[in-house]
Amino acid sequence: MEQNPYKNAMAQLKKAAEIKSFNLTEQKKGKELFVRLENPDREIRISIPVEMDSGDTHIFEGYRVEYNNLLGPYKGGIRYHQDTNIDEVKALAFWMTLKCAVAGIPMGGGKGGVTVDPKKLSKNELEKLSRGWMRMLSDVLGPKKDVPAPDVNTTPEIMDWMNDEYAKITGDKSGAVITGKSLGKGGSEGRGMATGLGGFYVFQALQKKLDLPDKCAIAIQGFGNVGLNAAKIFKEHGHTIIAISDSKGAVYDKNGLDLEKLEEEKKKNGFLSANMTNRELLELKCDVLVPAAFENQITKENADKMKAKVILELANGPVTPEADEILWRKIESMYEKGIWIIPDILANSGGVTVSYFEWEQNLRGEHWSEKEILRKLKEKMTEAAEKVFEKAMENKTNLRMGAFILALQRLGEKI
Ligand code: GLU
Repeated sequence: MEQNPYKNAMAQLKKAAEIKSFNLTEQKKGKELFVRLENPDREIRISIPVEMDSGDTHIFEGYRVEYNNLLGPYKGGIRYHQDTNIDEVKALAFWMTLKCAVAGIPMGGGKGGVTVDPKKLSKNELEKLSRGWMRMLSDVLGPKKDVPAPDVNTTPEIMDWMNDEYAKITGDKSGAVITGKSLGKGGSEGRGMATGLGGFYVFQALQKKLDLPDKCAIAIQGFGNVGLNAAKIFKEHGHTIIAISDSKGAVYDKNGLDLEKLEEEKKKNGFLSANMTNRELLELKCDVLVPAAFENQITKENADKMKAKVILELANGPVTPEADEILWRKIESMYEKGIWIIPDILANSGGVTVSYFEWEQNLRGEHWSEKEILRKLKEKMTEAAEKVFEKAMENKTNLRMGAFILALQRLGEKI
């Protein structure tokens, strides 16, 4: 089960349904919700032809999974990665369904992707691929139907191309068909840093409850938009970033890293000069470990070696269900459990929350200030974190299951 993210996602759902005090499958409505969430509403696979710079035409495999729209239009990013496949996209779309419910926004869950290593494409090829993805899906997407956004390796510029393509095909220039656009093209203030910042607000709301010190030592896996922004925000607030990594390896300094220097180095060389492996980073003794890269990083093979007090999941699905079990050692006292995990569907929901703000602004033809966006984001994240904690305590379970219960109750109200 461990390597298939969709199987892992379904195992989490099953586990939530088995929590006795919660009783999901005891009533007709609960049973209906459970079976509906075992299957996506729609899975779409497309073959996107792209004329490469060489003159040859290459076919790329693309996907859109519309998982569930009980709460509102399907919502979720598009991932460009060589390992992306339909099972990964399905898992991510399922998590989006729960994530939007946890965040308290009126959107459903969806996800898209293309199996491609975007680093191997020229800019021209990347634009053709992105416009092609939108062209082939323009009839199923739409501001009130399905609203994509960025994810791993997809940028505001890519969102702009897709938005432009949609406007050309349909005449709808509102921009509300896709979020994460650049600022001049209908994007929202604060969207770039929203996932990292949202994670920080969630951390702040739970810091005392989880018995974390005022100033934390933090290790971050991932140097993309999410990992790097999170690192900067935590550092600005006086915490120490003791390690950070990219796909090649990790940089560690127990006294704290100079992020600007690392950013320059990464720009110049394309990678960080690592002094530690990614695996070693995960096993570091620290207050907060932040996986901000991919699924399946913490598994039954390495869970026992974790020494962090808290894991803040800014990536989607970084901890497998087996590892969840190992890290959550049930003992009597609520504060002496194993390692607390602040789950993805809460911790990284800041991104989609600001996406929702962007969508609202586009629909109303408004532009809200950064101050306004950050105030609203903080309010939403704090409320979600407190509610998840409450649900976990009420049902004597961990925070992931607390978040599942909150989401499933909100979805259940719409059945
Ligand atoms: N890709 C992000 C996520 O996994 C954001 C999705 C969105 O903004 O719709 O939550």
